[in-house]
Amino acid sequence: MTIFSKIIKGDIPCYKIAETENCFAFLDINPMVRGHVLVIPKREVDYLFDLPDSELADLQLFAKRIAIAQKKAIPCQRVGQAVLGMEVPHAHIHLIPMQSEKDMLFSNPKLKLTEQEFLEIAESVRKNL
Ligand code: 5GP
Repeated sequence: MTIFSKIIKGDIPCYKIAETENCFAFLDINPMVRGHVLVIPKREVDYLFDLPDSELADLQLFAKRIAIAQKKAIPCQRVGQAVLGMEVPHAHIHLIPMQSEKDMLFSNPKLKLTEQEFLEIAESVRKNL
């Protein structure tokens, strides 16, 4: 079972944003910026583009809903989307509130946030869903 499947099951804690029957969204634990969200399918698939069309479309529409809420909750120019998957073999979309394109550089040092900050960010995104 992947670490993300354990998060979906509740065996590993996360700062949850939302879920549907097939999709799940939560804060990245090593955020590039405040409000960095991961959107994943509940089904364990390593490579995003191995998802059947209908599941990929469902996940992308779910990501759109989350991105709209992020844009309202987090001061940013726009929400960027990226797919890497080099670390966790469970398909995921990064949704990153950006002030500039530099915020999308995955080589940037990651933010260190307190538990309270994570909780407040998650709550503010959830309130805007
Ligand atoms: P990628 O596979 O796209 O290269 O990166 C995986 C992402 O998942 C990283 O940004 C990393 O911080 C995040 N991540 C890895 N393990 C966990 C975890 O246990 N909880 C959360 N919330 N994020 C994680």
